[in-house]
Amino acid sequence: MALTGIEIFKLLPKTNCKECGVPTCLAFAMNLAAGKAELSSCPYVSEEAKAKLSEASAPPIRPLVIGSGDNAVKIGGETVLFRHEKTFVNKPGFALLISDTMPEAEVEGRLRRFKELKYERVGLVLRGEIIAVKNESGDIGKFEALIKKIKGESDAAIIVMSDELEALKAGVAACAERTPLIYAATNDNSEALADLAKEHKCPLAVKADNMEALSLLSDKLTAAGVKDLVLDTGSRTFRKAFEDEVFIRRAALIQKNRSLGFPTITFPCEMTKEPMKEAMIAAAFVAKYAGIIVLSDFQGETLFPLLVERLNIYTDPQRPMMMQQGIYPIGNPTEDSPALITTNFALTYFIVSSEIEASRVPSWLLVMDTEGLSVLTAWAAGKFVGDAIGTFVKKSGITDKVKHRRIVIPGVAAGVSGDLEEELGAGWEVKIGPREAAHLSAYLRMAS
Ligand code: SF4
Repeated sequence: MALTGIEIFKLLPKTNCKECGVPTCLAFAMNLAAGKAELSSCPYVSEEAKAKLSEASAPPIRPLVIGSGDNAVKIGGETVLFRHEKTFVNKPGFALLISDTMPEAEVEGRLRRFKELKYERVGLVLRGEIIAVKNESGDIGKFEALIKKIKGESDAAIIVMSDELEALKAGVAACAERTPLIYAATNDNSEALADLAKEHKCPLAVKADNMEALSLLSDKLTAAGVKDLVLDTGSRTFRKAFEDEVFIRRAALIQKNRSLGFPTITFPCEMTKEPMKEAMIAAAFVAKYAGIIVLSDFQGETLFPLLVERLNIYTDPQRPMMMQQGIYPIGNPTEDSPALITTNFALTYFIVSSEIEASRVPSWLLVMDTEGLSVLTAWAAGKFVGDAIGTFVKKSGITDKVKHRRIVIPGVAAGVSGDLEEELGAGWEVKIGPREAAHLSAYLRMAS
């Protein structure tokens, strides 16, 4: 059972030192109980109290990782029902289904699409991450060979799927270092799969026909020492599967039901044979509340919108997307190329940089850290003002890259030009760029 705020408070140091960011230990305890604070924020909790508090401070949905290296997929860890309450934490992984009964050319095509369908947006690479490898042939050797091929030819996180225990053992052994998800423990095989999951330290999917049976099986596996579970309610109609997702999320968050406090796996690929309908079902599960979404195939026209939807929903609304502060060369600039400055709000950067690219005038773009604020907001907040910009320009290293001493500032920040010239000192010229980024391309062409 999760502890109440008062029970947590009794275990805290009660010094009200404020180092956790709130004024009192009681306020911190209340936040911890509500899942709005991390226990690690208080540096003074004793080891004994930590042990007792670990349950109360753990996210109501257990976070876990499938895969390894750069393409490891973290799922679970969610603390809210609705994104606007705080934020969603770990985006669901998109899985591409490959069966060992598929012809070789089909397998090759799917592998190729898995590797090629990547999209760069706002400095991020959007892509599917998981391959669900399904044993339908009944041939263990064929299944094992397919898993080895997929492991060798991609960086995918892998789901090893079979109804046969021996096939699962061979499949997991073939990719154990990739930390695959084992699919799936049922009432008939749960002991053997618990042992397999513990032996290879892999997460284990749990499948049952109804919620009660799923809870019981989850408890049984937890008691057997398997901590990382992924829930499959067995529903294969959209309506029932959607209801199950909402039920599990509410049970875990509101009723603090630890039996259902795990991420889920959904199978839109088994709910329809129409690709567009499958994509729409998958889109619903991105919002509510799948941990893994298994698709029958990856096709650009359906995968791309799903990736963008996922990006939008899983971007923290409280933290603007930011670029690293620094100097960005655009189009092989030289020591005579213009130098422009903007803020590190990601959207501002991408609009400005794409306008510079469109101008075909190679340029240096200085991106200043304004904590993710756009130009006008940063100026109003006093973060994009003459002395701050001047200090950044002098330290940025731009004088090693250009022989001129001219800097172009956004037109909406024209008011800072005097202070900036003063801060930069003699020899510098501050030029006022256009107010709208849309006019930047024409401005650069005329100025060059
Ligand atoms: S840091 Fe710890 S001791 Fe200090 S106020 Fe917060 S909870 Fe209390």
